[in-house]
Amino acid sequence: MVPRTLGLFFSMAVAASAGYWIEPTSGPLLGAFAVCLFSVIKDLWKGQKITQWLRHNNVQEPPQMGGLWGDLIDRMKRILNEQRKQTFAEQKRLQDFLLAIQASPNGVVLLDPEGRIEWCNQTAALHLGMDAKRDLMQHVVHLVRDPVFKKYITSDTHDGEVVIDGRSASLQNTFKLSVQLHNYGENRQLLLTRDVTDVAHADAMRRDFVANVSHEIRTPLTVMSGFIETLQTLELEADDRNKYLNLMAVQAERMQDLVNDLLILSQLEGSTLPSTNDPVNIDALMSGIEAEARGLSMMQLHENDEAQVLHFEQPAGILLLGATKELHSAVSNLVNNAVRYTPSGGLITALWTLLPDQRIQFSVVDTGPGIASEHLPRLTERFYRVDRSRSRESGGTGLGLAIAKHVMQRHGGELKIESELGKGSRFTLIFPASRVVLPSPPEGLAAST
Ligand code: ADP
Repeated sequence: MVPRTLGLFFSMAVAASAGYWIEPTSGPLLGAFAVCLFSVIKDLWKGQKITQWLRHNNVQEPPQMGGLWGDLIDRMKRILNEQRKQTFAEQKRLQDFLLAIQASPNGVVLLDPEGRIEWCNQTAALHLGMDAKRDLMQHVVHLVRDPVFKKYITSDTHDGEVVIDGRSASLQNTFKLSVQLHNYGENRQLLLTRDVTDVAHADAMRRDFVANVSHEIRTPLTVMSGFIETLQTLELEADDRNKYLNLMAVQAERMQDLVNDLLILSQLEGSTLPSTNDPVNIDALMSGIEAEARGLSMMQLHENDEAQVLHFEQPAGILLLGATKELHSAVSNLVNNAVRYTPSGGLITALWTLLPDQRIQFSVVDTGPGIASEHLPRLTERFYRVDRSRSRESGGTGLGLAIAKHVMQRHGGELKIESELGKGSRFTLIFPASRVVLPSPPEGLAAST
């Protein structure tokens, strides 16, 4: 600054001397004025160039100037560069932030004070059936027309959350969304959406399950209370008394079976997967199940009925790695079902077969009534029965196949059901090779072959 001022004064002095030399009275003043004017014009021109440079926002190519203006340009360039870096870093941060919200499995919508969409992520767009770009600045209530949503969003207090149908919900395809609104900033609102289809489904299943269990227990309880009342109020002969007591015992047994099956199911759900270290001998397993099935078959045989024919077969010495109780439950449920549903004189074959790929399968084939194809996919649902009265009559709980399926899943196997109405059924359990242990060949056999 000082050298520039001194330079200006020096130029003015030189110009004044030159002016004096040309014209002694007004020459010095004019000379000094001309230098001032030139200096002002030069500064204006430089200022103009700098303004242009700033206007074009080309920080990297500043006009080349020396002295005070050059210093000024350098400083400006440094400040502008610093600002640029800051803006870039902030933009990057914002971009990362938006990408993180985009990656969220939940929907996020930012609303302005008028309830217009300022921004939304793809999940929210998918949940609410919006277009993340096209629908910006649209009122959210114009796009989501669910009355529950409308009431919630237009109310003054947004307590808790509401559950509405998602955009792609249909009769066949339930899609439930939880929607929550939160205030933030200056009158802005944050709308969060979450897919709660699974939760709603589990909730519905739990409600159905409780209703089914209550219903299953209520029926025998009602019958028993009726008998108890009869026994309490009427003077009965010993024969009648015994008859009623026997009927009560049947109902009590029904409730016991139901509670047992419910306990098995809850244990299956709550326990760790069956180990692959515990060998179960198939021969031993089957001898108990066969005795049970033959007993059941005899029990349901009426006078003049032709007995059922039961055939059991399994290769000797094979071990199955798994939980004995669970395997017993799955296999006996299939065998007992065949016995219960097959009419007198029918044939029931229970067969273990080693498959070529070392898996092992157990199948029960009966010549019973068979099952219409529309029921097949639902048979393993809890309490699903084709013929309710037939199932109850024969002591069914409606949980046998659900238990068998669960046991197979836990052992890494599968349950297959094939049936044809009027022709009989085949229920098959297939266990993976990893759970099969074959008997070792007798010593010396390997050497002699
Ligand atoms: P339930 O205790 O009623 O037998 P399950 O879960 O074991 O319950 O079986 C579900 C339904 O599948 C039964 O109610 C019955 O209608 C049908 N079912 C099962 N096994 C047979 C079979 N061998 N033959 C015909 N129907 C069967």
